[in-house]
Amino acid sequence: MSEQHLRASPISATVDFEADGVQHGFLRLPYSRDDSAWGSVMIPITVVKNGEGPTALLTGGNHGDEYEGPIALFDLARTLDLAEARGRVIIVPAMNYPAFQAETRTSPIDKGNLNRSFPGLPDGTVTQKIADYFQRVLLPLADIVLDFHSGGKTLDFLPFCAAHILPDKAQEAKAFEFVKAFGAPYSMKMLEIDAVGMYDTAAEEMGKVFVTTELGGGGSATARTAAIAKRGVANVLRHAGIIQGEIEAEPTTWLDMPSGDCFAFAEDGGLIEFLVDLGEAVERDTVLARIYPVGRTGVKPFEVRSKMKGLLTARHYPGLIKPGDCCAVVAVPV
Ligand SMILES: [Zn+2]
Repeated sequence: MSEQHLRASPISATVDFEADGVQHGFLRLPYSRDDSAWGSVMIPITVVKNGEGPTALLTGGNHGDEYEGPIALFDLARTLDLAEARGRVIIVPAMNYPAFQAETRTSPIDKGNLNRSFPGLPDGTVTQKIADYFQRVLLPLADIVLDFHSGGKTLDFLPFCAAHILPDKAQEAKAFEFVKAFGAPYSMKMLEIDAVGMYDTAAEEMGKVFVTTELGGGGSATARTAAIAKRGVANVLRHAGIIQGEIEAEPTTWLDMPSGDCFAFAEDGGLIEFLVDLGEAVERDTVLARIYPVGRTGVKPFEVRSKMKGLLTARHYPGLIKPGDCCAVVAVPV
């Protein structure tokens, strides 16, 4: 569908993206419902603009149960010094705000997974309306896009910043310079299981420099992963030339996901016992985990084996697993 056939977004911003200064406001999305006839979803947003310069669009809470991004961005929104900034920073700490409020990956309103809803629809569900607003209003304003993710309640990751292999090699190289600048303990050439409908894909197809993260998981954040997020976003703004100062990065281990063999999916459900922890080296055919059928005792557990040599980079979380769940990800140090 071409954009000219789409109606205008129902979302209105209470901030002016072209005005200099620091503005804290909302993206107001009309949402009529039982407990609020003419009500709205109010998505917090901060715009910091100081004259001409690049625009960074910084987002967290694309999935509502991932916390490093919201922590870093609620913090940045109140601490970013206008006098130090050149250009524009647009901060949305919790993109899928209904999901964030519910502490769930998807929206409790429409079950929409925002990161599978792009390009969205202005006359669709609440989640589709949010996607459409980012697609047609916010992404076009941006030069650099940083979208924070973590594992949420059902995955846990080694902390990494990532970009994708792209057809446009200049765009890809710029993205990996930002990954390096972010300065996470791990840096990833990331392969997606299914890139259709992702914010990442929308931004990349628009030619934007897009970087993302996976900084932990399990439905909370640690002191370490929150600190990685805060330092990383400041480094990204420094690398973009929006704020001054030296990049503060620790040594990073570069990882690659060379094929779909990185992923191990559960073919049976049950109680999962990991035999390898995150960051440990594995060989091809290493048993990563056992899945015990829990309907009765005395049954041999299923084994989940690595299909390649590498590091255990992600694992299922917390204790029980269902058939089809992503059990583990093994990535290759490069
Ligand atoms: Zn996510």
